[in-house]
Amino acid sequence: MVRHFGRAYVRARFVLFVLLLIPSTVRATIDYHVSLNRPGDHLFHVTMSIPVEGRRVTVALPAWNALYQVRDFSMRIRGMEALCPASIAVPAQIASLDKQTWQISLDGPCQPNDHNTIEVRYAIEWDSHGPFNSELDTRHAFVNLAEILMYVPERRAESTTVEFVDVPPTWHTAAELPSTGENSYSAGSYDALVDAPVEAGEYEELHFSESGAHFRVIIDSNKWNRPLLETSLQSITKSELQLMGGGVPFDPPSREYTFFFYIAPDGDVEGGGMEHRNSTAIAASSTEAAIAIAAHEFFHVWNVKRIRPQALEPVDYTKEQYTRALWFAEGVTSAYASFTLERSGLWTKDQFYADLAMQISALEARPAREWQSVESSSLDAWLEKYDSYRSPERSISYYNKGQILGVMLDLAIRDATDNHKSLDDVLRRMYEEYARQGKFYDESAGIRAVVEEVSGKSFGDFFRRYVAGTDEIPYSDFLSVAGLAIKMSSENPDGADPQAQAIAHAKISEIAHPTDRQRRIREGLLRGATD
Ligand SMILES: [Zn+2]
Repeated sequence: MVRHFGRAYVRARFVLFVLLLIPSTVRATIDYHVSLNRPGDHLFHVTMSIPVEGRRVTVALPAWNALYQVRDFSMRIRGMEALCPASIAVPAQIASLDKQTWQISLDGPCQPNDHNTIEVRYAIEWDSHGPFNSELDTRHAFVNLAEILMYVPERRAESTTVEFVDVPPTWHTAAELPSTGENSYSAGSYDALVDAPVEAGEYEELHFSESGAHFRVIIDSNKWNRPLLETSLQSITKSELQLMGGGVPFDPPSREYTFFFYIAPDGDVEGGGMEHRNSTAIAASSTEAAIAIAAHEFFHVWNVKRIRPQALEPVDYTKEQYTRALWFAEGVTSAYASFTLERSGLWTKDQFYADLAMQISALEARPAREWQSVESSSLDAWLEKYDSYRSPERSISYYNKGQILGVMLDLAIRDATDNHKSLDDVLRRMYEEYARQGKFYDESAGIRAVVEEVSGKSFGDFFRRYVAGTDEIPYSDFLSVAGLAIKMSSENPDGADPQAQAIAHAKISEIAHPTDRQRRIREGLLRGATD
């Protein structure tokens, strides 16, 4: 444990002198200790040590994290207490300010000159599988730290440390954070700390380097295909690193990226993945499924973690944070997952066409497409926690329509530039213009501006009709640019009510005699190349 401020009173006069040189509050490290001493109880025992000037501090626990869903993590807290553990511990009073915020006040002076360190202690229960949750049991722990660690609202920018203690002797811990000792990590801010999930247990581990970047893979599984996972991850990371212009995008000091996998062929797995700044957590029922998710999650290194809508910055842990751009952040990321799988040879081109056709069928099967735009669907992401919201009559998916729009945008840009530019150029330009300058983009308008800059043409109609609006997408018009044809067949399920919504089946195929231009654009689409 590191407490930079803990010994201050020993040399109080010297420290006072130094303090005079430091404007405003003293920046000392907030430390967390997380005890795993009783994993069978599913309780993380947290001690948060907060150096404070004076006798008061406000702490809060996020209402949401990982998913765009308010899940009120504070409902899981048990036995919260606070004190100042100096030579004689001084108790503190805890006053709730709202469902997730508390003001803590010391009963009296604790350390000389009121340079106090207040400890907040609580247990928090988590026993949920998957990358969006946290879990502690006798087999392992997986932790999204924002789901268990409180923060001081005005001090999120301060550096911080977390140490896991009482870790079972056969377990190890892994997190894509600078290590400060066995099972302890540091981060430059609370936000950086909680954007790095932690696995603790008896996992397997592999490492590889690709295109100058170092990768670590943590696998929690009793049945997985090591050579398939390793070679596929190499193909995916190589393809996406090269697409985005080469160079290692991961943060210093390690400039490393970690994949956390939970692969359970025999288990009850709700598959999914969660992106983080320098890592991802993925759950899947097979190695093959895990690889497909990895192609999506790894592209988030750029799209959403670094090429990021302004509306998501800074993170507001207290309530819903609205953006209309999830069709791009998520849907276009899915488009790049399918491009990557095809372009790296993990899929055939027929699998790529079949996946696109399936996405189109899925959108066409949702009556809500006639009145909910993909921007509205992005904004309404916070309703996805309600089952009935996800019904075809009520909503569309910004993943689904966003993926389709990503492919259509790529084709439209190739059409506008005679295959000299593509959506790849848009992503690279957004990375240069926004991410690498420390800037964020302004929703769909920011995306449209870069599309128009790259293509040299107006895309006002495209964004008005298909992004902000609910016009039917003229798939044939877009696809024919690449010599592709789409056949839509509608059928009513056998014996179904004739009034019932017909189920659309799309099939995409290459036309027999493409023009030279159509062939060039199709090759460009499939290879990720331009003329
Ligand atoms: Zn995603």
